[in-house]
Amino acid sequence: MCLRRLLQSARLQRAWRAVFVKHVQGRHQGAWRWTHSGGGTYRAVIFDMGGVLIPSPGRVAAEWEVQNHIPSGTILKALISGGENGPWMKFMRAEITTEEFLQKFGRLCSEISKTSVPVDSFFSLLTSERVAKQFPVMTEAITQIRAKGLQTAVLSNNFYLPNGKSFLPLDWKQFDVVVESCLEGVCKPDARMYKLCLERLGRQPSESIFLDDLGPNLKAAASLGIHTIKVHDPETAVKELETLLGFPLRMAVPNTHPVRKTMEIPKDSLEKYLQDLLGTQATGPLELLQFDHGQSNPTYYIRLAKHQLVLRKKPPGTLLPSAHAVEREFRIMKALANAGVPVPKVLDLCEDSRVIGTPFYLMEYCPGLIYKDPSLPGLEPSQRQAIYTAMNRVLCKIHSVDLKAAGLEDYGKHGDYIARQVQTWIKQYRASETSTIPPMERLIEWLPLHLPRQQQTTVVHGDFRLDNLLFHPETAEVLAVLDWELSTLGDPLADVASSCLAHYLPSSFPIQPGLRDSDLTELGIPTAEEYFRMYCLHTGIRPTENWNFYMAFSFFRIAAILQGVYKRSLTGRASSATAEQTGKLTEFMSNLAWDFAVKEGFRVFKEMPATKPLTRELYQRLKQFMEWHVYPAKPELQHHQASAEKWTPSPLVEDLKEKAKAEGLWNLFLPVETDPEKKYGAGLTNVEHAHLCEVMGTSLYAPEIFNCSAPDTGNMELLVRYGTEEQKARWLIPLLEGKALSCFAMTEPQVASSDATNTESSIREEDGFYVINGHKWWVSGILDPRCQLCVFMGKTDPHAPRHQQQSMLLVPMDTPGINIIRPLTVYGLEDAPGGHGEVLFEQVCVPKENMVLGPGRGFEIAQGRLGPGRIHHCMRLIGYSKRALALMKARAKSRMAFGKPLVEQGTVLADIAQSRVEIEQARLLVLKAAHVMDVAGNKAAALGIAMIKMVAPSMAYRVTDRAIQAFGAAGLSSDYPLAQFFTRARALRFADGPDEVHRAAVAKMELKRCS
Ligand SMILES: Cc1cc2nc3c(=O)[nH]c(=O)nc-3n(C[C@H](O)[C@H](O)[C@H](O)COP(=O)(O)OP(=O)(O)OC[C@H]3O[C@@H](n4cnc5c(N)ncnc54)[C@H](O)[C@@H]3O)c2cc1C
Repeated sequence: MCLRRLLQSARLQRAWRAVFVKHVQGRHQGAWRWTHSGGGTYRAVIFDMGGVLIPSPGRVAAEWEVQNHIPSGTILKALISGGENGPWMKFMRAEITTEEFLQKFGRLCSEISKTSVPVDSFFSLLTSERVAKQFPVMTEAITQIRAKGLQTAVLSNNFYLPNGKSFLPLDWKQFDVVVESCLEGVCKPDARMYKLCLERLGRQPSESIFLDDLGPNLKAAASLGIHTIKVHDPETAVKELETLLGFPLRMAVPNTHPVRKTMEIPKDSLEKYLQDLLGTQATGPLELLQFDHGQSNPTYYIRLAKHQLVLRKKPPGTLLPSAHAVEREFRIMKALANAGVPVPKVLDLCEDSRVIGTPFYLMEYCPGLIYKDPSLPGLEPSQRQAIYTAMNRVLCKIHSVDLKAAGLEDYGKHGDYIARQVQTWIKQYRASETSTIPPMERLIEWLPLHLPRQQQTTVVHGDFRLDNLLFHPETAEVLAVLDWELSTLGDPLADVASSCLAHYLPSSFPIQPGLRDSDLTELGIPTAEEYFRMYCLHTGIRPTENWNFYMAFSFFRIAAILQGVYKRSLTGRASSATAEQTGKLTEFMSNLAWDFAVKEGFRVFKEMPATKPLTRELYQRLKQFMEWHVYPAKPELQHHQASAEKWTPSPLVEDLKEKAKAEGLWNLFLPVETDPEKKYGAGLTNVEHAHLCEVMGTSLYAPEIFNCSAPDTGNMELLVRYGTEEQKARWLIPLLEGKALSCFAMTEPQVASSDATNTESSIREEDGFYVINGHKWWVSGILDPRCQLCVFMGKTDPHAPRHQQQSMLLVPMDTPGINIIRPLTVYGLEDAPGGHGEVLFEQVCVPKENMVLGPGRGFEIAQGRLGPGRIHHCMRLIGYSKRALALMKARAKSRMAFGKPLVEQGTVLADIAQSRVEIEQARLLVLKAAHVMDVAGNKAAALGIAMIKMVAPSMAYRVTDRAIQAFGAAGLSSDYPLAQFFTRARALRFADGPDEVHRAAVAKMELKRCS
């Protein structure tokens, strides 16, 4: 079926339904040769059971005798022994119990065979589920008979099982009447049995047909005037029954119907053509059926001798030059088969219109299963999972076809697939528009403005859905992908999105049942996101961030098609109710499409500004790196931090640093304002980097892995901004390369260091050197063996104005006089290997050229150093908080207390809501501060920076605290990152200055503002 052609078809509505309503899930059986249908005078068909519907006792006995080395024929002889008064017939009339029967029957068998016969074992086999199974051909026949309105009955000599129930391994629902000898006390061939059955059916003998495998039973029926069929084997019996009834009893080829008058093709010339093609043994009669789908390119089922084929042709009449290109379908299927994609095997392309009136091609008929209902009813969760995985894999296979090797490089235009598609469908929609549909108008504006950058050009199927796949009946193997009419070269993600449409439709959707209201986890069906990730993982492509765009486009396309259907239904013969319903579907689909557009808008708003595609790509790569490398490394890194080697760097971190460098995820922190030429970093704005920090914040280990952790970031920025070329060469380069680490020493135990002007440590000039003396603490990172530089803040001139007394010196860590007294702990944690050191600087002598910017400039530098760093800290806190909330939600859903999940407890709900609100508030404030820094500079952003320092750490502290509470005691353990998040958030209410200082700063600035 071709969606594009549908719009040109006068049978649009019917075709549409043919595409989406491919009936019930059905098995494509071997083709049916029936060419006429009819009713006849029969009203009921009566079946014997053993030997007709299920294997006969005689046949079961023969096998059993071989296996048990019992002389052949023993059981059969015993069954008929004694005639009406033998144990078998008595058992059938329920005159003896099962136990008595087995005793008598056993004795009889032993007498006949002159050996002991374990009849119990035969009886068990006879009544076992393995053996007592209805023949499928009979099940099919009964279904067809009943479908024609005829009655069905079972008339069986039957017996009771030891459990007191009669032996009836059949589905009762298939029969109107069941007559059993053990219930009636009469056996066939007693005429009473037949009469009873006819009476219950309410039928005359002449209206009935009786099938049995035993001559006497048939004779008795015939003598009453019932038509009879002797059953030697079920297949032949069904054929005979068909002849009597005059309609087919084998299921027809699914999704076919007799060829429509207007669609007939000349059989004689086709047969001749096929004989030439297939060889002379391919002689008639030629059977022809038409598939329900394939309105655009009529499609036929052919059976000729042993060959089963499918013919697909152009429609008759004048066609647009590029339309109905069966040649293209033939070409793509041939090429794909050679490339290993499962497609029906194409046999021949006939471009000579003289044969059947138009060009056509032939392919082998491929029997298999088509799953029409995406929820796959009747299957196990593991089978559903396997079906969807196979679907995903086959799509990957299509998209991985090497265009050059397959000779398909010119099969379509390269690039801009979506842009062209959007324009096509806008045009189609406009051509069939009947009234203004607001979401369609919005989409027509929105789609062209949000076109994705096509990552690659591959073969695209154009209409890839579960019901276009033919599956193996017993395994989850895709035997063939059908319907290649829309195939071209294009953006493969359009196919992925189109295969997820059903995920968003309700199960009651009139055109195609959807999965929206199904519990996919319970069903074992991957969610659309999981399906998409599965695809990305398998193809090795990076998950695109604008997946919502692709979904919006896919639904828009369907909405445009539906509008075409609607317009035609208005002018056609459809009832007004049908037309109205179709019209509503257009609106429904366009609303779905717009929902995705809105989601995409929010995603852009929340994740990355719409500018700079390169930054968005970086962001995506970072997220993937986190998923693939950082999160999985957590257990090992945590183990290292608790081990005896904790004060040495983790080799895994070093390894991940190299990987991050190779991925270009390195030194992303330096703002473009500080490094406009991108000499040292990625040249991101503060806003852009803020989004990356949010991602990095979801793991405590991440910042170092990307060389974006404090205090190194602040120190590097300080060197870029204020360092001399020599200072940069000596310190900045090793820091940027991740070969060295650094620390920052300002805080002093003896003074309130929230006021930086309190600093007492002295920096004295002596003999062309600076000599340092002071007592510092909370020097983060100083214990790491890789720490080579300490940025030291001290007083050079205690008599200068208050903010010009301080200076900053670059102190090599191997300078004599630096004595680390002890590592401090944060809530008992040492934060190894960097730690937080208490340090004495005694007569530490540093060359004068190590002074940054000049004496007395320390305070100014400290202020400049902190702006971007505060954004980093705060956005990482947002990351911690979002992760904590995610963990909290998952826990609250799965944890039961007092008979209901935590999530149903009011206080937990309130905590979740409160946390979400606080995170969003803080996040927007941080992004605003970053934005002001970008557009107006750090000074103008001072108020914003102070506000976020005031807000973000305490928000993160509260959110993680609530998450810990929802986790119970586990939240405090190191099994989850919550305790560490909490500790970090708490510490950040001091680091970079206590909350109160920022609050005071905000108040002061606020009071200065006029409005
Ligand atoms: C984990 C961690 C890492 C750190 N890393 C470093 C580092 O690498 N280098 C470094 O130099 N320092 C570091 N620090 C220290 C940090 O910068 C200081 O703790 C902070 O500046 C506060 O100084 P203080 O501890 O001397 O507190 P104080 O200045 O003594 O203040 C104590 C309290 O007084 C109150 N207060 C102070 N000022 C005001 C005010 N204006 N209004 C009202 N109340 C006020 C507040 O409640 C405040 O918490 C780190 C701290 C922590 C916890």
